[in-house]
Amino acid sequence: MVIVTKISIEQSHLDAMVEDFRAKGLEVDIIRGKDSIALGLIGDTHSLDADRLLLNPDVERIMRVQEPFKKASRKFHPQKTVVKVGNASIGDDTQFAVIAGPCSVETKEQILTVANGVKNSGASILRGGAYKPRTSPYSFQGLELEGLELLKEARAATGLPIVTEIMSPALVETFDRDVDVIQVGARNMQNFDLLKELGKCSKPILLKRGLSSTIEEWLMSAEYIMSGGNSKVILCERGIRTFETYTRNTLDLSAIPAVKKLSHLPVVVDPSHSAGMSWMVEPLSLAAMAVGADGIIVEVHNDPKSALCDGAQSLDLCQYENLMQKLKAISVHFGREC
Ligand code: PEP
Ligand code: MN
Repeated sequence: MVIVTKISIEQSHLDAMVEDFRAKGLEVDIIRGKDSIALGLIGDTHSLDADRLLLNPDVERIMRVQEPFKKASRKFHPQKTVVKVGNASIGDDTQFAVIAGPCSVETKEQILTVANGVKNSGASILRGGAYKPRTSPYSFQGLELEGLELLKEARAATGLPIVTEIMSPALVETFDRDVDVIQVGARNMQNFDLLKELGKCSKPILLKRGLSSTIEEWLMSAEYIMSGGNSKVILCERGIRTFETYTRNTLDLSAIPAVKKLSHLPVVVDPSHSAGMSWMVEPLSLAAMAVGADGIIVEVHNDPKSALCDGAQSLDLCQYENLMQKLKAISVHFGREC
């Protein structure tokens, strides 16, 4: 952190400030310029509150030169994190994980048909919502515990690990016991009570980026989970809110290389919620591989037009098979297997 003070600061005030930082275990480099004085703070500055420091009338500006996240930062953990789920190693540069399944679990027949279909085309993890975060309280809310049971049946039938979204901290124990990857949806990315509970879990967490969250906010949410003791976090870029209304969200592809540079955590792309349209899923999935994502999470339904949730963005099983063929074809260029 660099603190810039006015050149007019009284020496006694400057000495007191420097002394205060040193008492906090920080090294302080003082650089005297023509118009200002810069204090370079070296050490762990996370506990310093920049807004409070700015209340000091002698302080002009504060610049953070270190990310506020630590456990999620590549600087503190240069080697990449690989999260193993069933046969998938998410974060391993030689693999491209494909997570597929319906937006919501609807019936036993539906989830078994989709699970078998995506498995045959090459998915490595099955997705399916049992608790749905719907904008309207009148929309289908998911089958809840019954949905979870049906997902477990689909896992038993196919051998595919399951990922499903959690909304309430009260269900953390159940999810930790019953599912293979726990999804935190975009709307709950900053549900800090939930993140703290998930920090105590043994299962990997798929952390979706919030609707309007910056990359730093997203990584800070990962930090919440990791600081609780769970380092198995998979980030998921699922599109963000912008002024553009043609697509449901705007897929921020640039977030992938950015996150890869800033963090050691694996990152996957959700092309379904990004665009909101099934015909865009394929080009966005191919782009995800090209930009260096570790995989995709894609919505697939046996009959999209009758889906209870997100049918317009869901691929049918035939479209999913075509997508997998395309991904396999380009994967050789990127040295990845999928
Ligand atoms: C979902 O995966 O079905 C979902 C609701 O996604 P998001 O949280 O990204 O909107
Ligand atoms: Mn959905």
